Amino acid sequence: MTDLLLLGTDTDAGKTTFALLCLAAFPNHFEYWKPVETGDSDTETVRRLVPSAVVHPPLARFGDPVAPPLAARREGKEVPHARLIAAARPRPTQPGRRLLIETFGSPFSPLNEEELQIALVHALNLPTVLVCASALGAIGRGLQCLRALQGEGIDPRAVALVGPPDSYAAEQLYQRQRSAWVVPVTPPASWDPVGVAEAARGMDPSWPELPWRQDWGTSEDELTRCDALTVWHPYTPLRGQDPPLGCVAARDEWLHMADPRRGVRAVIDGISSWWTILHGHRYPPLMKALHQAAATYDHVHFAGITHPPAVTLAELLLRSADMAGGRVFYSDNGSTAVEVALKMAYQYWCLRGEPRRRLFVGFEHGYHGDTFGAMAVSRDPVFFGRFEPLLFRAEIVPLAPERLDDVLARHPGEVAAVIVEPLVQGAGGMRMHSPEVLCALAEVARRRDVLLILDEVMTGGGRTGRLWAHQSAGVRPDLLCAAKTLAGGILPLAATLVTPQLVTLWDTDNPAHTFFHGHSFTANPLACAIGCANWAMLMEAVHPAPARLEAFWNRTLAPLRGHKRVREVRVRGTIAAVEVDVPGGYLADVGRQMRRTCLERDVLLRPLGNVLYAMPPFCTSDAALEQIAGAMIAAVEALR
Ligand code: PMP
Repeated sequence: MTDLLLLGTDTDAGKTTFALLCLAAFPNHFEYWKPVETGDSDTETVRRLVPSAVVHPPLARFGDPVAPPLAARREGKEVPHARLIAAARPRPTQPGRRLLIETFGSPFSPLNEEELQIALVHALNLPTVLVCASALGAIGRGLQCLRALQGEGIDPRAVALVGPPDSYAAEQLYQRQRSAWVVPVTPPASWDPVGVAEAARGMDPSWPELPWRQDWGTSEDELTRCDALTVWHPYTPLRGQDPPLGCVAARDEWLHMADPRRGVRAVIDGISSWWTILHGHRYPPLMKALHQAAATYDHVHFAGITHPPAVTLAELLLRSADMAGGRVFYSDNGSTAVEVALKMAYQYWCLRGEPRRRLFVGFEHGYHGDTFGAMAVSRDPVFFGRFEPLLFRAEIVPLAPERLDDVLARHPGEVAAVIVEPLVQGAGGMRMHSPEVLCALAEVARRRDVLLILDEVMTGGGRTGRLWAHQSAGVRPDLLCAAKTLAGGILPLAATLVTPQLVTLWDTDNPAHTFFHGHSFTANPLACAIGCANWAMLMEAVHPAPARLEAFWNRTLAPLRGHKRVREVRVRGTIAAVEVDVPGGYLADVGRQMRRTCLERDVLLRPLGNVLYAMPPFCTSDAALEQIAGAMIAAVEALR
């Protein structure tokens, strides 16, 4: 059980009131401790008003009702250091109980001659609740304190608004600071045990179950120990790896990681959480869309049912891709979006009476996902070599129009489709090709009469500049795959867009002409609602972030061009990749070395073997970008 630390925006915010009500409402959950107090004793007040509560005596108590260091000085004493106070934390008297630890004043009030109380907050390293008086100015006071705490890496789990109910303040605090629950607390009508017990009945019964019940708190050791016993991580050997970082919160370009030494450590998410997070973590307009949709929906299945978020999003997607009259087939991740495209391409030829067309063409260094069809058209020897005997036939050629032309010429009437990641091949090492090359590939596919599948799972949503990467080449796909950022990265959602020319073949009365495919979470309404907000925003105007980031990368990574350890620096839109010149490929230890060097600088990157790359969210500040570029340069310099 994790103890809970009560902070206040200032003196008289209502911390003791909140503690009284919690103790009275949940006698089996909480015990009380106020380590440092001055003036009238809150400890005594709690004893008097909640006689049944277990109350631990304060560590330091001074008579004058002034700041503790001053009160102590007047008595010729000193307030102990934060670490000593933390070490003196009593144990609850019964298992299953937690201490409710009350602080004094504000987190930034002086604790002793050297430290502010925030030092104690860090030393205790516990989940926190911020108590704020529900009175005029509550919003400003609350936000000021929350922001200041965040600057210290402390994210309160809840804000308790103590006083007359003020739904506007509650809503504003919640809207602007979504990391914390906002819970109204009505004080007792009379200050005696009966009045307190009465008021305690109004406490939300879920208080003890609120998020601090995630008992990991900020204890990385406990989290990673339990993780190692239970969880199997993607693309990670079970042994010999650095332990996973314990993430306890996310916001904008920052991930808050549990760190035994620093409490919570803010790290820049330099790869947008595997390229999913588009604008930034918990981007307010998209979180708002999620909250609004969650007031109406959870999940509803999508066979024989429809709903407004799915239809609106389909309209937006088709319009954005200039595919009016086409259809959107929803699924829930990039691999399934690709799988759908491959199955449709094959069925299309079957419906046209050409079932011999079951060969697919992909490109070297292409990556399209981890399901069997996606593996077959990716064929990456490191990732998928093990499964080779199980994969269907596909031709994989170098990414060049002539090579595509050659292979199509060699297999007349056999090829169903060619699949390519436009402009940037992601997992294959952030390899980039020009819009002209893409245009030429599309021209070859068209001339040779094979379908063109564009896999925009990574590039869709504006990462490379335009909303869809292929739009900068002016090409027209037959099937177009999107996932990752479709719902801003907040919830899983994928879509396969199909042109009207293809759709007509399924558009018959013959039930055999059904596309037999579907997933439980197809078109999840919450994800679609976020997708609508996201796509509508992206369609309004070209987002300025990719151009800003591209100019930034070109400027700051220039010193790496021509560096003796660097084979190539590649930049497109938000993406910057540095391919270092070391032997060993994807599995070489150089990736791990570079990751560690960046992490030492609080930048989280995940090199693809010898390719160190960054793809941060749109919101990433200039200062954070500088930090990423600095870390990348340091990682290259550190290579021996
Ligand atoms: N296509 C591309 C281009 C990708 O980059 C990825 C994932 N990295 C996928 C497909 C597969 O997506 P998912 O991991 O969501 O299945």
